Amino acid sequence: MSTQTKTKRVLIVGGGIAGLSLAIGLSQRGIEAEIVELKEEWTVYGVGIIIQSNVIRAMHQLGILDKFLDQAYPFENSIVYLPNGHKIVHPSARLAGPEYPPNCGIARIALHKVLVSTVLAAGVPVRLGVTLASYTETETGVLVSFTDGTTGEYDVVVGADGTFSKVRSLVFPDVKPHFTGQAVWRYNFRRQVEDLTNYIGPKGLAAGLCPLSDELMYMYVTSFEPDRPRYEENELAEQMRIRLDGFTGPVAALKEQITDGAGVVYRPMQVVFIPEKWHKGRVILIGDAAHSTTPHMGQGAGISVEDALVLADELSKDAPLEAKFEQFMRRRYERCKAVCERSEQIGKWEMTGVVDGDRHALVGRTLQELAQPI
Ligand SMILES: Cc1cc2nc3c(=O)[nH]c(=O)nc-3n(C[C@H](O)[C@H](O)[C@H](O)COP(=O)(O)OP(=O)(O)OC[C@H]3O[C@@H](n4cnc5c(N)ncnc54)[C@H](O)[C@@H]3O)c2cc1C
Repeated sequence: MSTQTKTKRVLIVGGGIAGLSLAIGLSQRGIEAEIVELKEEWTVYGVGIIIQSNVIRAMHQLGILDKFLDQAYPFENSIVYLPNGHKIVHPSARLAGPEYPPNCGIARIALHKVLVSTVLAAGVPVRLGVTLASYTETETGVLVSFTDGTTGEYDVVVGADGTFSKVRSLVFPDVKPHFTGQAVWRYNFRRQVEDLTNYIGPKGLAAGLCPLSDELMYMYVTSFEPDRPRYEENELAEQMRIRLDGFTGPVAALKEQITDGAGVVYRPMQVVFIPEKWHKGRVILIGDAAHSTTPHMGQGAGISVEDALVLADELSKDAPLEAKFEQFMRRRYERCKAVCERSEQIGKWEMTGVVDGDRHALVGRTLQELAQPI
Protein backbone atom coordinates (compact mmCIF):
# COMPACT_ATOMS: atom_id res chain seq x y z
CA MET A 1 0.00 0.00 0.00
CA SER A 2 1.26 3.53 -0.76
CA THR A 3 2.33 5.92 1.98
CA GLN A 4 -0.26 8.52 0.94
CA THR A 5 -1.96 9.78 4.10
CA LYS A 6 -4.96 11.76 2.81
CA THR A 7 -8.17 9.95 1.86
CA LYS A 8 -9.83 11.85 -0.99
CA ARG A 9 -12.23 9.51 -2.76
CA VAL A 10 -14.40 6.80 -1.21
CA LEU A 11 -16.74 4.34 -2.91
CA ILE A 12 -19.63 3.23 -0.71
CA VAL A 13 -21.33 0.01 -1.79
CA GLY A 14 -24.87 0.03 -0.36
CA GLY A 15 -27.19 2.97 0.22
CA GLY A 16 -28.79 1.80 3.48
CA ILE A 17 -28.52 3.31 6.95
CA ALA A 18 -24.74 2.74 7.25
CA GLY A 19 -23.81 3.78 3.71
CA LEU A 20 -25.94 6.93 3.74
CA SER A 21 -24.68 7.94 7.19
CA LEU A 22 -21.09 7.45 6.01
CA ALA A 23 -21.69 9.58 2.91
CA ILE A 24 -23.03 12.34 5.18
CA GLY A 25 -20.03 12.08 7.54
CA LEU A 26 -17.52 12.12 4.67
CA SER A 27 -19.17 15.10 2.94
CA GLN A 28 -19.11 16.98 6.26
CA ARG A 29 -15.34 16.46 6.29
CA GLY A 30 -14.75 17.41 2.65
CA ILE A 31 -14.06 13.85 1.46
CA GLU A 32 -15.56 12.88 -1.89
CA ALA A 33 -18.01 9.99 -1.56
CA GLU A 34 -19.93 8.06 -4.19
CA ILE A 35 -22.68 5.48 -3.58
CA VAL A 36 -23.74 2.48 -5.64
CA GLU A 37 -27.01 0.89 -4.54
CA LEU A 38 -28.20 -2.43 -5.91
CA LYS A 39 -31.91 -1.61 -5.79
CA GLU A 40 -33.25 0.20 -8.82
CA GLU A 41 -36.09 1.56 -6.78
CA TRP A 42 -34.49 3.09 -3.73
CA THR A 43 -36.95 2.43 -0.95
CA VAL A 44 -37.09 0.47 2.30
CA TYR A 45 -39.50 -2.06 3.72
CA GLY A 46 -40.46 -2.73 7.30
CA VAL A 47 -42.11 -0.70 9.97
CA GLY A 48 -40.02 1.27 12.42
CA ILE A 49 -36.72 1.64 14.16
CA ILE A 50 -35.92 2.33 17.79
CA ILE A 51 -33.19 4.95 18.08
CA GLN A 52 -31.57 5.03 21.51
CA SER A 53 -29.49 7.68 23.22
CA ASN A 54 -26.09 6.70 21.79
CA VAL A 55 -27.55 6.95 18.29
CA ILE A 56 -29.25 10.30 18.97
CA ARG A 57 -25.77 11.53 19.91
CA ALA A 58 -24.27 10.10 16.70
CA MET A 59 -26.99 11.77 14.60
CA HIS A 60 -26.20 15.05 16.33
CA GLN A 61 -22.53 14.64 15.44
CA LEU A 62 -23.53 13.91 11.83
CA GLY A 63 -25.45 17.21 11.83
CA ILE A 64 -28.82 15.60 11.02
CA LEU A 65 -30.49 15.39 14.42
CA ASP A 66 -32.93 18.31 14.03
CA LYS A 67 -34.07 17.12 10.63
CA PHE A 68 -34.38 13.58 11.98
CA LEU A 69 -36.39 14.67 15.04
CA ASP A 70 -38.91 16.46 12.83
CA GLN A 71 -39.89 13.01 11.54
CA ALA A 72 -39.46 10.96 14.73
CA TYR A 73 -41.37 10.44 17.98
CA PRO A 74 -39.24 11.27 21.03
CA PHE A 75 -39.66 9.20 24.17
CA GLU A 76 -38.12 9.16 27.63
CA ASN A 77 -38.13 5.60 28.82
CA SER A 78 -37.73 2.02 27.80
CA ILE A 79 -40.11 0.05 30.01
CA VAL A 80 -40.39 -3.71 30.53
CA TYR A 81 -43.33 -5.50 32.16
CA LEU A 82 -42.59 -8.98 33.49
CA PRO A 83 -45.25 -11.74 33.40
CA ASN A 84 -46.01 -11.06 37.10
CA GLY A 85 -46.74 -7.38 36.31
CA HIS A 86 -43.46 -6.12 37.81
CA LYS A 87 -42.22 -3.03 35.94
CA ILE A 88 -38.57 -2.31 35.04
CA VAL A 89 -37.55 1.08 33.65
CA HIS A 90 -34.24 1.39 31.79
CA PRO A 91 -33.07 4.95 32.42
CA SER A 92 -31.75 6.82 29.35
CA ALA A 93 -29.42 9.79 29.31
CA ARG A 94 -29.76 12.87 27.07
CA LEU A 95 -26.46 12.30 25.34
CA ALA A 96 -26.94 14.94 22.62
CA GLY A 97 -27.61 17.66 25.20
CA PRO A 98 -30.43 18.62 27.57
CA GLU A 99 -32.56 20.08 24.76
CA TYR A 100 -32.72 16.74 22.94
CA PRO A 101 -34.71 13.62 23.87
CA PRO A 102 -32.96 10.47 25.09
CA ASN A 103 -34.71 8.12 22.62
CA CYS A 104 -36.93 8.13 19.54
CA GLY A 105 -38.92 5.85 17.36
CA ILE A 106 -39.09 6.54 13.63
CA ALA A 107 -40.75 4.87 10.64
CA ARG A 108 -38.08 3.21 8.47
CA ILE A 109 -39.26 5.11 5.41
CA ALA A 110 -39.07 8.44 7.27
CA LEU A 111 -35.48 7.72 8.39
CA HIS A 112 -34.57 6.71 4.83
CA LYS A 113 -35.99 9.99 3.46
CA VAL A 114 -34.03 12.08 5.99
CA LEU A 115 -30.77 10.30 5.11
CA VAL A 116 -31.37 10.34 1.33
CA SER A 117 -32.33 14.02 1.20
CA THR A 118 -29.20 14.95 3.20
CA VAL A 119 -26.96 12.88 0.94
CA LEU A 120 -28.47 14.34 -2.24
CA ALA A 121 -28.31 17.90 -0.85
CA ALA A 122 -24.59 17.32 -0.16
CA GLY A 123 -24.15 16.51 -3.87
CA VAL A 124 -23.03 12.90 -3.32
CA PRO A 125 -23.40 10.96 -6.61
CA VAL A 126 -25.70 7.94 -6.20
CA ARG A 127 -26.12 5.27 -8.84
CA LEU A 128 -29.12 2.96 -8.49
CA GLY A 129 -29.38 -0.56 -9.89
CA VAL A 130 -25.57 -0.77 -10.05
CA THR A 131 -23.02 -2.51 -7.89
CA LEU A 132 -19.40 -3.46 -7.70
CA ALA A 133 -18.60 -6.45 -9.94
CA SER A 134 -14.91 -6.86 -9.05
CA TYR A 135 -11.95 -4.82 -7.80
CA THR A 136 -8.18 -4.77 -8.05
CA GLU A 137 -5.86 -3.00 -5.65
CA THR A 138 -3.12 -0.91 -7.25
CA GLU A 139 -0.19 0.94 -5.69
CA THR A 140 -2.30 4.08 -5.37
CA GLY A 141 -5.88 2.92 -4.93
CA VAL A 142 -8.62 0.47 -5.80
CA LEU A 143 -9.72 0.00 -9.39
CA VAL A 144 -13.40 -1.00 -9.42
CA SER A 145 -15.43 -2.53 -12.23
CA PHE A 146 -19.16 -1.98 -11.93
CA THR A 147 -22.03 -4.15 -13.15
CA ASP A 148 -23.02 -1.47 -15.72
CA GLY A 149 -19.65 -1.86 -17.45
CA THR A 150 -18.12 1.35 -16.05
CA THR A 151 -14.95 1.56 -13.93
CA GLY A 152 -13.63 3.95 -11.30
CA GLU A 153 -10.62 4.45 -9.05
CA TYR A 154 -10.93 5.18 -5.33
CA ASP A 155 -8.70 5.49 -2.28
CA VAL A 156 -11.03 3.30 -0.22
CA VAL A 157 -13.99 0.97 -0.89
CA VAL A 158 -16.54 0.54 1.89
CA GLY A 159 -18.90 -2.42 1.94
CA ALA A 160 -22.12 -1.15 3.54
CA ASP A 161 -24.27 -3.65 1.69
CA GLY A 162 -26.03 -5.36 4.57
CA THR A 163 -26.24 -8.84 6.07
CA PHE A 164 -25.77 -10.67 2.75
CA SER A 165 -22.92 -8.37 1.66
CA LYS A 166 -21.39 -8.98 -1.74
CA VAL A 167 -18.30 -7.02 -0.70
CA ARG A 168 -17.83 -9.26 2.35
CA SER A 169 -18.14 -12.36 0.15
CA LEU A 170 -15.23 -11.04 -1.95
CA VAL A 171 -13.02 -10.00 0.97
CA PHE A 172 -13.89 -12.59 3.62
CA PRO A 173 -15.55 -15.44 1.68
CA ASP A 174 -15.59 -17.74 4.71
CA VAL A 175 -17.71 -15.39 6.83
CA LYS A 176 -21.39 -16.18 6.26
CA PRO A 177 -24.61 -15.23 8.06
CA HIS A 178 -26.56 -17.87 9.95
CA PHE A 179 -30.15 -18.21 11.16
CA THR A 180 -30.44 -18.06 14.97
CA GLY A 181 -33.67 -20.07 15.20
CA GLN A 182 -35.84 -17.05 15.97
CA ALA A 183 -38.00 -14.63 14.04
CA VAL A 184 -39.46 -11.22 14.78
CA TRP A 185 -42.92 -10.13 13.70
CA ARG A 186 -44.01 -6.50 13.37
CA TYR A 187 -47.26 -4.64 12.68
CA ASN A 188 -48.30 -0.98 12.73
CA PHE A 189 -51.15 0.45 14.82
CA ARG A 190 -52.48 3.87 15.76
CA ARG A 191 -50.19 5.09 18.52
CA GLN A 192 -51.34 4.56 22.09
CA VAL A 193 -48.06 4.51 24.06
CA GLU A 194 -45.69 7.32 25.06
CA ASP A 195 -42.65 5.13 25.68
CA LEU A 196 -41.11 1.97 24.29
CA THR A 197 -43.16 -0.55 26.26
CA ASN A 198 -42.04 -4.18 26.30
CA TYR A 199 -43.78 -7.23 27.73
CA ILE A 200 -42.19 -10.54 28.59
CA GLY A 201 -44.61 -13.37 27.86
CA PRO A 202 -45.15 -16.55 29.84
CA LYS A 203 -42.59 -18.52 27.79
CA GLY A 204 -39.93 -15.81 28.10
CA LEU A 205 -40.49 -14.42 24.59
CA ALA A 206 -40.89 -10.65 24.19
CA ALA A 207 -43.49 -8.39 22.63
CA GLY A 208 -43.67 -4.64 22.69
CA LEU A 209 -45.04 -1.37 21.42
CA CYS A 210 -42.83 1.38 20.04
CA PRO A 211 -44.11 4.89 19.22
CA LEU A 212 -43.05 6.10 15.74
CA SER A 213 -44.97 9.35 15.21
CA ASP A 214 -47.97 11.21 16.64
CA GLU A 215 -50.18 8.83 14.71
CA LEU A 216 -48.24 5.56 14.53
CA MET A 217 -46.67 2.90 16.72
CA TYR A 218 -45.55 -0.60 15.90
CA MET A 219 -45.94 -3.87 17.74
CA TYR A 220 -43.24 -6.53 17.68
CA VAL A 221 -43.16 -10.08 18.99
CA THR A 222 -40.26 -12.51 18.94
CA SER A 223 -40.82 -16.22 18.31
CA PHE A 224 -38.96 -19.54 18.22
CA GLU A 225 -39.03 -20.91 14.64
CA PRO A 226 -36.55 -23.80 14.51
CA ASP A 227 -37.89 -24.98 11.12
CA ARG A 228 -37.85 -21.48 9.66
CA PRO A 229 -41.32 -21.76 8.10
CA ARG A 230 -42.34 -19.70 5.07
CA TYR A 231 -45.84 -18.22 4.88
CA GLU A 232 -48.03 -16.83 2.15
CA GLU A 233 -49.10 -13.24 2.70
CA ASN A 234 -52.69 -14.29 3.48
CA GLU A 235 -51.43 -16.48 6.37
CA LEU A 236 -49.24 -13.88 8.09
CA ALA A 237 -51.87 -12.04 10.18
CA GLU A 238 -53.16 -15.27 11.73
CA GLN A 239 -49.60 -16.52 12.32
CA MET A 240 -48.62 -13.28 14.10
CA ARG A 241 -51.75 -13.50 16.27
CA ILE A 242 -50.77 -17.07 17.22
CA ARG A 243 -47.29 -15.82 18.30
CA LEU A 244 -49.06 -13.48 20.76
CA ASP A 245 -50.90 -16.31 22.54
CA GLY A 246 -50.27 -16.19 26.27
CA PHE A 247 -49.46 -12.47 26.36
CA THR A 248 -51.73 -10.29 28.46
CA GLY A 249 -52.26 -6.52 28.72
CA PRO A 250 -52.18 -4.07 25.78
CA VAL A 251 -50.43 -6.38 23.30
CA ALA A 252 -53.11 -9.02 23.89
CA ALA A 253 -55.86 -6.40 23.58
CA LEU A 254 -54.52 -5.33 20.17
CA LYS A 255 -54.06 -8.85 18.84
CA GLU A 256 -57.42 -9.14 17.09
CA GLN A 257 -56.65 -5.98 15.10
CA ILE A 258 -53.85 -7.81 13.25
CA THR A 259 -55.86 -8.65 10.17
CA ASP A 260 -53.88 -7.47 7.13
CA GLY A 261 -51.21 -9.95 6.02
CA ALA A 262 -49.64 -7.29 3.78
CA GLY A 263 -48.95 -5.19 6.89
CA VAL A 264 -47.14 -7.98 8.78
CA VAL A 265 -43.34 -7.86 8.57
CA TYR A 266 -42.02 -11.35 9.42
CA ARG A 267 -38.22 -11.64 9.61
CA PRO A 268 -36.21 -14.74 10.51
CA MET A 269 -33.19 -13.48 12.49
CA GLN A 270 -29.94 -13.74 10.54
CA VAL A 271 -26.66 -12.82 12.21
CA VAL A 272 -23.08 -12.41 11.12
CA PHE A 273 -19.96 -11.06 12.82
CA ILE A 274 -16.59 -10.74 11.13
CA PRO A 275 -14.05 -12.01 13.62
CA GLU A 276 -10.97 -9.84 14.10
CA LYS A 277 -10.59 -7.01 11.63
CA TRP A 278 -13.24 -5.88 9.18
CA HIS A 279 -10.78 -4.63 6.56
CA LYS A 280 -8.29 -6.00 4.07
CA GLY A 281 -6.08 -3.80 1.92
CA ARG A 282 -8.12 -0.74 1.02
CA VAL A 283 -11.54 -2.35 1.55
CA ILE A 284 -13.49 -2.12 4.81
CA LEU A 285 -16.93 -3.29 5.94
CA ILE A 286 -19.37 -1.45 8.19
CA GLY A 287 -22.94 -1.87 9.45
CA ASP A 288 -24.79 -5.16 9.01
CA ALA A 289 -22.17 -6.27 6.46
CA ALA A 290 -19.67 -6.49 9.35
CA HIS A 291 -22.03 -7.26 12.26
CA SER A 292 -25.67 -8.13 11.75
CA THR A 293 -27.31 -8.58 15.13
CA THR A 294 -30.68 -9.74 16.46
CA PRO A 295 -33.18 -7.03 17.51
CA HIS A 296 -33.05 -7.84 21.24
CA MET A 297 -31.16 -4.66 22.14
CA GLY A 298 -32.71 -2.48 19.38
CA GLN A 299 -29.18 -1.48 18.34
CA GLY A 300 -28.62 -2.88 14.82
CA ALA A 301 -29.19 0.42 13.04
CA GLY A 302 -27.62 2.34 15.89
CA ILE A 303 -24.23 0.67 15.79
CA SER A 304 -24.30 1.02 11.98
CA VAL A 305 -24.71 4.81 12.28
CA GLU A 306 -21.91 4.87 14.87
CA ASP A 307 -19.63 2.88 12.52
CA ALA A 308 -20.26 5.46 9.80
CA LEU A 309 -19.47 8.37 12.08
CA VAL A 310 -16.25 6.81 13.38
CA LEU A 311 -15.06 5.73 9.93
CA ALA A 312 -15.67 9.23 8.51
CA ASP A 313 -13.73 10.65 11.45
CA GLU A 314 -10.79 8.29 11.03
CA LEU A 315 -10.63 8.70 7.23
CA SER A 316 -10.42 12.47 7.64
CA LYS A 317 -7.17 12.14 9.64
CA ASP A 318 -3.75 12.58 8.16
CA ALA A 319 -2.29 9.09 8.67
CA PRO A 320 -1.48 5.96 6.66
CA LEU A 321 -4.67 4.11 5.69
CA GLU A 322 -3.77 0.99 7.67
CA ALA A 323 -3.44 3.13 10.81
CA LYS A 324 -6.83 4.76 10.18
CA PHE A 325 -8.47 1.35 9.78
CA GLU A 326 -6.76 0.03 12.91
CA GLN A 327 -7.96 3.02 14.86
CA PHE A 328 -11.48 2.46 13.50
CA MET A 329 -11.35 -1.15 14.71
CA ARG A 330 -10.06 -0.06 18.11
CA ARG A 331 -13.08 2.23 18.51
CA ARG A 332 -15.67 -0.17 17.12
CA TYR A 333 -14.80 -3.84 17.60
CA GLU A 334 -15.50 -4.55 21.28
CA ARG A 335 -18.54 -2.28 21.36
CA CYS A 336 -20.23 -4.00 18.41
CA LYS A 337 -19.16 -7.46 19.60
CA ALA A 338 -20.81 -6.83 22.97
CA VAL A 339 -24.09 -5.78 21.33
CA CYS A 340 -24.09 -8.79 18.98
CA GLU A 341 -23.09 -11.40 21.57
CA ARG A 342 -25.46 -10.13 24.24
CA SER A 343 -28.38 -9.79 21.80
CA GLU A 344 -27.80 -13.36 20.66
CA GLN A 345 -27.54 -14.50 24.29
CA ILE A 346 -30.98 -13.06 25.04
CA GLY A 347 -32.32 -14.85 21.98
CA LYS A 348 -30.88 -18.13 23.28
CA TRP A 349 -32.51 -17.58 26.66
CA GLU A 350 -35.82 -16.92 24.89
CA MET A 351 -35.51 -20.05 22.76
CA THR A 352 -34.30 -22.55 25.34
CA GLY A 353 -36.00 -21.25 28.45
CA VAL A 354 -32.70 -21.97 30.24
CA VAL A 355 -31.90 -18.54 31.66
CA ASP A 356 -28.58 -18.44 33.48
CA GLY A 357 -28.36 -14.65 33.66
CA ASP A 358 -30.43 -11.51 34.19
CA ARG A 359 -31.74 -10.28 30.83
CA HIS A 360 -32.75 -6.85 32.10
CA ALA A 361 -29.49 -6.26 33.95
CA LEU A 362 -27.63 -7.22 30.75
CA VAL A 363 -29.64 -4.75 28.66
CA GLY A 364 -29.18 -2.02 31.30
CA ARG A 365 -25.42 -2.60 31.49
CA THR A 366 -25.10 -2.58 27.70
CA LEU A 367 -27.02 0.69 27.38
CA GLN A 368 -24.76 2.23 30.02
CA GLU A 369 -21.66 1.06 28.16
CA LEU A 370 -23.04 2.42 24.88
CA ALA A 371 -23.52 5.79 26.55
CA GLN A 372 -19.73 6.04 26.87
CA PRO A 373 -18.17 8.20 24.15
CA ILE A 374 -17.02 6.39 21.00
C1 LIG B 1 -37.53 -5.76 10.29
C2 LIG B 1 -36.32 -5.13 10.93
C3 LIG B 1 -36.49 -4.28 12.01
C4 LIG B 1 -35.38 -3.67 12.62
N1 LIG B 1 -35.56 -2.84 13.69
C5 LIG B 1 -34.50 -2.21 14.25
C6 LIG B 1 -34.62 -1.30 15.35
O1 LIG B 1 -35.71 -1.08 15.88
N2 LIG B 1 -33.51 -0.65 15.80
C7 LIG B 1 -32.30 -0.87 15.24
O2 LIG B 1 -31.33 -0.24 15.67
N3 LIG B 1 -32.13 -1.74 14.22
C8 LIG B 1 -33.19 -2.42 13.72
N4 LIG B 1 -33.03 -3.30 12.69
C9 LIG B 1 -31.71 -3.54 12.17
C10 LIG B 1 -31.36 -2.47 11.19
O3 LIG B 1 -32.36 -2.30 10.23
C11 LIG B 1 -30.05 -2.80 10.51
O4 LIG B 1 -29.07 -3.07 11.50
C12 LIG B 1 -29.60 -1.64 9.65
O5 LIG B 1 -30.54 -1.44 8.63
C13 LIG B 1 -28.22 -1.87 9.10
O6 LIG B 1 -27.93 -0.88 8.16
P1 LIG B 1 -26.98 -1.22 6.93
O7 LIG B 1 -26.94 0.02 6.13
O8 LIG B 1 -25.73 -1.82 7.42
O9 LIG B 1 -27.72 -2.36 6.13
P2 LIG B 1 -29.07 -2.26 5.31
O10 LIG B 1 -30.03 -1.35 5.97
O11 LIG B 1 -29.48 -3.67 5.04
O12 LIG B 1 -28.64 -1.56 3.94
C14 LIG B 1 -27.84 -2.21 2.98
C15 LIG B 1 -28.08 -1.53 1.65
O13 LIG B 1 -27.20 -2.11 0.70
C16 LIG B 1 -27.94 -2.45 -0.46
N5 LIG B 1 -27.25 -3.58 -1.09
C17 LIG B 1 -27.33 -4.89 -0.80
N6 LIG B 1 -26.50 -5.60 -1.58
C18 LIG B 1 -25.87 -4.70 -2.37
C19 LIG B 1 -24.88 -4.80 -3.37
N7 LIG B 1 -24.35 -5.98 -3.73
N8 LIG B 1 -24.47 -3.66 -3.97
C20 LIG B 1 -24.98 -2.45 -3.64
N9 LIG B 1 -25.92 -2.29 -2.70
C21 LIG B 1 -26.35 -3.41 -2.07
C22 LIG B 1 -29.33 -2.78 0.04
O14 LIG B 1 -30.29 -2.67 -1.01
C23 LIG B 1 -29.49 -1.72 1.12
O15 LIG B 1 -29.96 -0.51 0.59
C24 LIG B 1 -34.10 -3.94 12.11
C25 LIG B 1 -33.94 -4.81 11.01
C26 LIG B 1 -35.02 -5.41 10.43
C27 LIG B 1 -34.81 -6.34 9.25
